[in-house]
Amino acid sequence: EPQTVEVGLGDRAYDIIIGAGLLEQAGEHLARVAPGAACAVVTDANVARLQLPVLRHSLEKAGIRTVSIIVEPGEASKSFPVFQRVCEEILEARIERRDVVLALGGGVVGDLAGFAAASVRRGSRFVQAPTTLLAQVDSSVGGKTGINTPQGKNLVGAFYQPSLVLADVDALATLPLREFRAGYAEVVKYGLIDDAFFFEWLENNASAVFADRAARVEAISVSCRSKAKIVARDETEQGDRALLNLGHTFGHALERLVRYDGERLVHGEGVAIGLVCAFRFSARLGLCSLQDAERVGRHLTRVGLPTRIRDISGWRDDADAMLDAMFQDKKVEKGALTFILARGIGRSFVAKGIDVDQLRSFLKDEI
Ligand code: NAD
Ligand code: ZN
Repeated sequence: EPQTVEVGLGDRAYDIIIGAGLLEQAGEHLARVAPGAACAVVTDANVARLQLPVLRHSLEKAGIRTVSIIVEPGEASKSFPVFQRVCEEILEARIERRDVVLALGGGVVGDLAGFAAASVRRGSRFVQAPTTLLAQVDSSVGGKTGINTPQGKNLVGAFYQPSLVLADVDALATLPLREFRAGYAEVVKYGLIDDAFFFEWLENNASAVFADRAARVEAISVSCRSKAKIVARDETEQGDRALLNLGHTFGHALERLVRYDGERLVHGEGVAIGLVCAFRFSARLGLCSLQDAERVGRHLTRVGLPTRIRDISGWRDDADAMLDAMFQDKKVEKGALTFILARGIGRSFVAKGIDVDQLRSFLKDEI
């Protein structure tokens, strides 16, 4: 049974539908939210091979004029040159404002196609069909779109909400295990932020989430609902949305120190280690129990995620390098580190003015 999560943003409210076989039914869903519209599908070469045929078939069966725009897989496609090409191909295909730009793929395609949708004709209709677990629980929810520049990641973009998100759990069947695990770290994050019951549910159902469709639909729905709730409270990241960065100040620093080498560390693995660091640091500050921190680590280990900095292959950097990398993160305001810490599982909060010496001594012990 598919589940629907409503994202409540006033007149721009939209549905996230999570279920099996949704790409096969995409034509009907599109005809409903955008009657009579044509569709430009933006996807990457991997997803084009594995998932595009089913989607195209469904759109064509519904009588929707469809063009496909295919980019190279990988983060490098979130760039000005690729963005330009995608915009021009959308215009070339005579996609009007009321037509649909549809992102079929992971977070890279979603961010790139979303920014193109926001920009072409000052905004065309946008639909997301996320095909990675990370995209289904995180990047397709919340309306952040954009590309990278030589100055850094995600520095050019727009907040732009889709008209519909179709999260087809069947698409995850072809996803490599390492990518699935990485997305799972973000799922765990939602339990740790403010839903201890969900974290416990994951402890009891992790193997089902890794294996079957029903448990996946449940885990993805809870995650989307959790993110949608936080985003609705704080669409443009003034306050509460920072909670979504739990584990990310540590995680981003780790990614930076391995120079974004995806062989050594993918984003979700950095997040897994970051979540454990956030809990262990909270325990060190006397905010939560060490048992809670250990419980977080145990669960992530059980599903095959790394949990300690020393798990990263070829790790050489010291605590000061780690501190520098953390201070370069964009979440650092006026020299004061804003951290998401926890008083326990499901009890995270935004902590300001963290003592740098305490952090350094914590990192020395961790590394
Ligand atoms: P990705 O889009 O690069 O996908 C990972 C890999 O999986 C790619 O090689 C892709 O071709 C392949 N793939 C995708 N779906 C597949 C499938 N069903 N079967 C087989 N292979 C498949 O990476 P990602 O992890 O999905 O997303 C990462 C990006 O998301 C980053 O650029 C990050 O900045 C962005 N992001 C954005 C937000 C947001 O709020 N907008 C949030 C988190 C992350
Ligand atoms: Zn993340």
